[in-house]
Amino acid sequence: MSNHFNSLPYNKEVLEDMIKNQIVYRGVTNTNVLNAMRKFPREYFVREKDKPYAYTDGPLSIGYGQTISQPYIVALMTDLLELTGNEKVLEIGTGSGYQTAILSELAKEVYTIEIVPSLIEFAKNNLKRFGVKNVHFFCKNGYEGLPEYAPFDRIISAAAPKKIPESWKKQLKIGGIMVLPVGIVYQDLLKIKKIGENNFIEENIIPVRFVPLVKEKDYE
Ligand code: SAH
Repeated sequence: MSNHFNSLPYNKEVLEDMIKNQIVYRGVTNTNVLNAMRKFPREYFVREKDKPYAYTDGPLSIGYGQTISQPYIVALMTDLLELTGNEKVLEIGTGSGYQTAILSELAKEVYTIEIVPSLIEFAKNNLKRFGVKNVHFFCKNGYEGLPEYAPFDRIISAAAPKKIPESWKKQLKIGGIMVLPVGIVYQDLLKIKKIGENNFIEENIIPVRFVPLVKEKDYE
């Protein structure tokens, strides 16, 4: 890739501390995931005024009532996807584009959906400076997924539905993996493996707190 990594004034030591103390310490040691986090310093995905807090151990506001996810959760969800580099991934909730960037590094193609137009612009600009070319952006409600581009090898959501949308289950390839938060106030991070057309194995990973998935009727 280009020499952006050397030319941008990010704080390498603080980024390494984040990886060591927040991510490896909590058990995510997948080198591919950690290296992708090194390639995309989180300070390039937060607002100007939040740059000093870019490596803190929690979510940060990105405006419009939305947040960039906690670094550990991004690492954990990416790890759970078991990416090998050949996958076509559907992401719901682009937000800042931070998770998108990391997925773009570890998968073949990323189809990402965001409902807030200004955020999709924010994400596009954030990703542009890294020269990422394998991301397709869609500004719409992600509840129905992207039937025209299905099936997907992996599906990941950064917004929590009350229950898993049927459209997502349908658009996941057999053998594919979906990672998402589910629930209203108390949410669980779930890892779903599709083993047959109507057959899924569900693993409950940890309790989490994500923004709710906006449904059609919520914004009409
Ligand atoms: N991974 C992102 C997380 C952003 S928070 C990051 O780290 O920056 C979740 C995002 O989901 C928000 O930007 C929100 O606007 C978006 N969202 C919520 N409901 C949605 C829906 N129905 N369709 C698409 N995006 C949605």
